[in-house]
Amino acid sequence: MIAVKQLRKSFGKNEILKGLDITIAKGEVVVVIGPSGSGKSTFLRCLNLLEEPTGGDILFENEPITARGHNINATREKMGMVFQHFNLFPHKTVLQNLTLAPVQVKGKSPKEAEKIALDLLQTVGLADKRDVYPNQLSGGQKQRIAIARALAMQPHVMLFDEPTSALDPEMVGEVLDVMKKLAEGGMTMIIVTHEMGFAREVGDRIIFMDNGLIVEEGTPEQVFGNPSHPRTRDFLAKVL
Ligand code: ADP
Ligand code: MG
Repeated sequence: MIAVKQLRKSFGKNEILKGLDITIAKGEVVVVIGPSGSGKSTFLRCLNLLEEPTGGDILFENEPITARGHNINATREKMGMVFQHFNLFPHKTVLQNLTLAPVQVKGKSPKEAEKIALDLLQTVGLADKRDVYPNQLSGGQKQRIAIARALAMQPHVMLFDEPTSALDPEMVGEVLDVMKKLAEGGMTMIIVTHEMGFAREVGDRIIFMDNGLIVEEGTPEQVFGNPSHPRTRDFLAKVL
């Protein structure tokens, strides 16, 4: 589904991504771990072209999305993204948050968009919140709505950047449960997280990034159980 070849990204003279290579299969759940500042967010933002790579290539469903003249918007529609801070539209109801882009961007009929939205609200367990405004929701509920809103665009892949890092501890579980359900349903997912238990349980593959490079990757058993690189061992010793 995604092939990344020698991806590089610099901000000014600062090289943040130093040549990443990775391929991700349809239905795969890839969890990216690594210290703060190692380039995890920049990597995700390059994948959906929120940042323009300074080098390398990204193929998405066999299309070179980094090629000049490529339709960035068409690609972004196929990639759902959920950030640390749920940026729901504050003056729209939950249901409107979910139907806005499908109608305005994808050209769905309001009726069809609403049907999809109501199904998704069931999936994330918030069907009863359809008519409330975001400020009436808890942090965990907001983030579940943010996930549903991304899914309403019927993306082919979902990117998550520390979706639970800003939540009170008691709300982390409900968001991880929604993500787990999504993974079990076969969604292709790339998840940056510090939730190591979740990574171990749900990840098909763990990527350890440090200093702009993929230092180590493997199954959860390999990376958590028997890390081969000293930097991975150091990192895991601090977070586990
Ligand atoms: P992580 O998500 O692993 O914590 P980031 O990808 O956010 O790491 O950041 C990696 C480095 O890139 C940091 O040193 C950060 O300051 C720098 N960086 C990220 N975005 C920008 C930007 N827009 N302009 C300049 N530097 C940036
Ligand atoms: Mg980050």
